[in-house]
Amino acid sequence: MRYGKSKKILVTGGAGFLGSHLCERLVEQGHEVLCVDNFFTGTRRNIAHLMESKNFELLRHDVTHPLYVEADEIYNLACPASPVHYQFDPVQTTKTSVNGAINMLGLAKRLKAKVFQASTSEVYGDPEVHPQSESYWGRVNPIGFRSCYDEGKRCAETLFFDYRRQHNLEIKVVRIFNTYGPRMHPNDGRVVSNFVVQALRGQDITVYGEGLQTRAFCYVDDLIEGFIRLMATGAEITGPINIGNPGEFTIRELAETVIRLTGSRSKIVSRPLPPDDPKQRRPNIDLARQVLDWVPEVQLEEGLTKTIAYFDAFLSAEERRIDS
Ligand code: NAD
Ligand code: UDP
Ligand code: UDP
Repeated sequence: MRYGKSKKILVTGGAGFLGSHLCERLVEQGHEVLCVDNFFTGTRRNIAHLMESKNFELLRHDVTHPLYVEADEIYNLACPASPVHYQFDPVQTTKTSVNGAINMLGLAKRLKAKVFQASTSEVYGDPEVHPQSESYWGRVNPIGFRSCYDEGKRCAETLFFDYRRQHNLEIKVVRIFNTYGPRMHPNDGRVVSNFVVQALRGQDITVYGEGLQTRAFCYVDDLIEGFIRLMATGAEITGPINIGNPGEFTIRELAETVIRLTGSRSKIVSRPLPPDDPKQRRPNIDLARQVLDWVPEVQLEEGLTKTIAYFDAFLSAEERRIDS
């Protein structure tokens, strides 16, 4: 039995980095959460603290297969997000984005449920427009190493908008810019987790290329707040809507900041730049500001400090596990 405003909410990819924070937030708000994950990049550890709650349920399932459950709202986050992981099995990555979207949209259609898609700034590719607004159509290589992810996510957006036009579904599409924080996978190859783990272990900090490419980094709590606000909007608000922190940094600046904040003796070393690596990226968040009254509150040094504390504890626990 559910009371008041408590809803039954499905979160796909709920055992991943962002998904686990979203599940936590929704459980805190008193909703019943069904977390669906195939554990490709997510872990039980990320949601272990939620398993005690009577409002939290876990289902091991791959979203490329149909799913018949009940829910009032669906957040579709299932998809590996780091280049290392999404390029490991690129065909599965496209299937996850495209077939996963079809299945979640089919489910939402049957249930008449609101459905939310975690899209990405990668839909803008290596952009010629800076900063990126939602009206920019992007510059994406359709046949490169990043294409399985970028084109899969673009196709998922197409499906969301066609289901809205064809079946009048209530959709919410968010374009997420680089987000970081506790529970990122320590080996997933993304820049913040790589640099923090390398700095804490006293290993070389691997800057790809000259390190002059830029990214804008959003702390996870700010992002989740944006998700919740978007889901709460009326049917006329569909997105796509950028959510990210407009503070833009070169990768070299990020490396130097991580070294300073950890007090590490690590040296910065150069490694080859991966193909199609976008040169610059920063969100224009005017739409989120207007429609959601949302702006990020946690700036880079504060967010990095929290992330460093998480990885410091995580790596120490790992060492203890190895010693025992
Ligand atoms: P993550 O890799 O930590 O989480 C993805 C989750 O999806 C994992 O738990 C994984 O096991 C699960 N998953 C993957 N394939 C699946 C499948 N076929 N069926 C069921 N579960 C599956 O990544 P994240 O950073 O938490 O990203 C979550 C979502 O946000 C992804 O859709 C990603 O594309 C999007 N996104 C994230 C960022 C970011 O900076 N973190 C940026 C842009 C977009
Ligand atoms: N689907 C699902 N759960 C449901 C309803 C549908 O997983 O509760 C999947 C099913 O695999 C289907 C897809 O969603 O093929 C798209 O559903 P839709 O109703 O749009 O199209 P269909 O293929 O059924 O004509
Ligand atoms: N990067 C880096 N060293 C690393 C990992 C990443 O210099 O150890 C760079 C990468 O080339 C890219 C940026 O950091 O320019 C962000 O990479 P990430 O994989 O985190 O995300 P994305 O490229 O998808 O934005």
